[in-house]
Amino acid sequence: LGSAKDEAVAMKDRFTVALDAGHGGADGGARGVNGTVEKQITLLFSLELKKKLEETGRYRVVLTREDDRFLRLDERVRIAREKGADLFVSVHADAIAIRSVRGATVYTVSDKASDAEAAATAARENLSDEIAGKVPEEEQDEVEDILVDLIRRETHAFSIRFARTLIGELSSTVQMVKNPHRYAGFRVLRAPDIPSVLLELGYLSNPKDEAQLRDPAWREKTMAAIIDAISYFAKANGAAGG
Ligand code: ZN
Repeated sequence: LGSAKDEAVAMKDRFTVALDAGHGGADGGARGVNGTVEKQITLLFSLELKKKLEETGRYRVVLTREDDRFLRLDERVRIAREKGADLFVSVHADAIAIRSVRGATVYTVSDKASDAEAAATAARENLSDEIAGKVPEEEQDEVEDILVDLIRRETHAFSIRFARTLIGELSSTVQMVKNPHRYAGFRVLRAPDIPSVLLELGYLSNPKDEAQLRDPAWREKTMAAIIDAISYFAKANGAAGG
C-alpha cells in the first residue's frame, strides 16, 4: 500500500523539466516556406520530447501547453514555477528574411543582446503577448531586493551552463548557426529561480531546416542530444534522478 505513496514522493524528488511549446492559439508564430506552422511543430516536438524524457524513468516533465491554446509569456513562466520545474526549455522554430540562414540556436536571457539578430529575435518572440490584445504590465514594482538579485544571478549562471552543454551535444548531431549561444531580452526566460533557455530548432524560412523539422528521424536524433544534455546538467546539479 505504501508503494503508491513512495512513488508519489519519488516523482516529486525527480528532476523536473518544463517544456514550453512556443506560440499557440491565435499566435501561430513563424510560417515555413512550405507551410509548416511554428506553433504546430513546437507542440509536436515538445510532446515527443516529453514522452522520450519520461521513458528514461529519470525525469518528471511538465508542459506549459498540451494543445493549441494561447498563453502569455508570463503565464508560461508561472506554470513552470508552480509545477516546481528545475529547468525550463522553450521550443521554437523561427523565420527570418535571409532564407539561406539555417541551423539551431540556443538563447539565454540578458538585458544586453549578444548581437542585432538576437535582439530582433527576442523582439519578435516578445510580440506574442501583443496578440492577446494587451501587453501585461512589466512587474517593475516587484521588489528586486538583494536576495532576489542573488538568486537571479545564480540561476543565470546555471542557464549559461546548460546552454553550453546543450550546444555541445547538439553540435555533433545537427547543424548550428554561427555563434550558437546568443542572448537577448526574452520575456519567457525571466523566471528568477529556474535555469531557462530558448531553443530555436532551426529556421522555417529555410527549406532544408523546414524539411528536417518535419522529419521524424531528424527529430529523434535531435531529441537524443537534448536528453543527453539534460542528463549531464541534472547530474552536475546533484539531482536525485539525474
Ligand atoms: Zn517562436
